[in-house]
Amino acid sequence: MTSPNQTQGTPRPCPLCGADNRARPPGPYSRPPWLVKTCPACAFTYLENPPAYAALEEDFAWEKTSAAEEARRRADRPLAKRLSHAFRRFRQKILKRDKLFSLLRRHIPPGRVLDIGCGGGGVLARLPAGYEPHGVEISRVLAAQADALVRPRGGHVVQASAVDGVAAFAPDSLDGALLSAFLEHEAQPTLLLRGLHRALRAGAPVIIKVPNFASLNRRVRGPNWCGFRFPDHVNYFTPQTLTRLAHDCGFRVAQCTLGDRWPFSDNLWMVLAKPVV
Ligand SMILES: [Zn+2]
Repeated sequence: MTSPNQTQGTPRPCPLCGADNRARPPGPYSRPPWLVKTCPACAFTYLENPPAYAALEEDFAWEKTSAAEEARRRADRPLAKRLSHAFRRFRQKILKRDKLFSLLRRHIPPGRVLDIGCGGGGVLARLPAGYEPHGVEISRVLAAQADALVRPRGGHVVQASAVDGVAAFAPDSLDGALLSAFLEHEAQPTLLLRGLHRALRAGAPVIIKVPNFASLNRRVRGPNWCGFRFPDHVNYFTPQTLTRLAHDCGFRVAQCTLGDRWPFSDNLWMVLAKPVV
């Protein structure tokens, strides 16, 4: 396995406002060699030196990093905490699934739906009848698995980075998109949302779920907050910074209720829409 030192990327400017913060010292949430910084110009918190895409395809592919991170956390945790954690995870999984599908039914009419970072196709396979499931996934193994699942329903999965994968769809060709637990992984979120804006038809919604950096849990647990994952989480959004990103990329916020940005939850939900002109 390649060591993180060999695959960490070149330092990037602030992905939200473009400020160059390389000369600033690493923030308190950094875990060497990974540098977490909060931009003084726009208050966005991000990993300054994310791994290159080539590394994500194989070395840091989700199915590997999530297993390694889980093992590290388990080793740090006594039994009682592990049991309560297991219960919480189970509860979160149920709620998460329900919420994604209820937002989908409410905002996205049947049609062509793109799941960005679709993994092995778990969500795409469960889309109700009437939806044509499409996906983008960088991991070769998972992309092939998802593609086999969606082909019988007229869909397909592009094996590429999110930015390149979205560019493969024709302008105004999609009826909706899902960015569930994905945008925190994307080193170029502005480029991705602009590309998605191009590929969506006017009025089409995007359902977003990211870890909420403004959550109380992050403030209380600090560096032990579950939203920190090194090196695969590269953006740490708050309702304010996610809204700014959406507006900068031409979207309007169609829904972000108090329940969607509840400070006691680790998650932040937001539904965007491409404005109808
Ligand atoms: Zn900034």
